[in-house]
Amino acid sequence: MVARTVSAVTEELPARRLLLVHAHPDDEVIGTGATMAHYVSAGAHVTLVTCTLGEEGEIHVPELAALGAAHADQLGGYRLVEWERACAALGVTDHRMLGGVGRYRDSGMMGLPTNEHPRAFWGADLDEAAAHLVEIIREIRPQVMITYDENGFYGHPDHIQAHRVAMRAAELAGDDGPEKIYWTAMPLSVLQDGMEAFRESDSNPFAEVEKVEDLPFGTPDDEIAARVDGTDHYAKKTAAMRAHATQIPDNSWLYGIAGDFGGEFMGVEYYTLAKGSRGPGSGPFGWESDLFSGLDVAPR
Ligand SMILES: [Zn+2]
Repeated sequence: MVARTVSAVTEELPARRLLLVHAHPDDEVIGTGATMAHYVSAGAHVTLVTCTLGEEGEIHVPELAALGAAHADQLGGYRLVEWERACAALGVTDHRMLGGVGRYRDSGMMGLPTNEHPRAFWGADLDEAAAHLVEIIREIRPQVMITYDENGFYGHPDHIQAHRVAMRAAELAGDDGPEKIYWTAMPLSVLQDGMEAFRESDSNPFAEVEKVEDLPFGTPDDEIAARVDGTDHYAKKTAAMRAHATQIPDNSWLYGIAGDFGGEFMGVEYYTLAKGSRGPGSGPFGWESDLFSGLDVAPR
């Protein structure tokens, strides 16, 4: 076994280092924005790696509709700027595009011809894509990595691919890889509460759903490993969402949640643990409140 060598770079970085691997600009905010802001403010180094520019996304700003793939095809460059502004709102300074800006293209929804684009992330060579991430892992040496589950949380091809690339990179990095890997998750109890809270609302995101089991995501509470309380940073998360104006319309139910329930739904984020051992936690299921829980690394 080769001894771990601490590079000059990691010696200058904070002791706690968190890496997040996401598919498109805006994914970082919706699922993990409060977590990122929380760890930045707690003095950890937070690295965001996003795999595509989101060229195939919908455009919710009418004046910008012609930026889309079928017209000017400049949505990706525009979203790069939205992403940078969102990171600034969250306090994240280390944000990178996998393989460099524009290396991989948004594949669009499953089964569409855009899946076949020569640069589509869905068709990327797994080891080549993972090698870009291994380079970052070796540079930063994160103890904790966050990505999606095998289904990419809800089935989008780029999310599934981000999961595969992140897991493969962690494996290829060997001893340099993260000690703990978390996947984003939504506890069924939280979805249940959300459905009940929205039942009377005009902008009910669950209007078409009869029961939580019908949603494409949702994890039994006893399978959740960590609950990160970022409610103190919920204003930053909201500001970061606003930065992604092409993707999240002004009248989105997400802002409704923010207005009606404050930090409770927006500021608290949940994870399952895919690698490593769970540290001390609390509550009926022993949920950790800190992703670095159980690791031998000082907060600062
Ligand atoms: Zn996405």
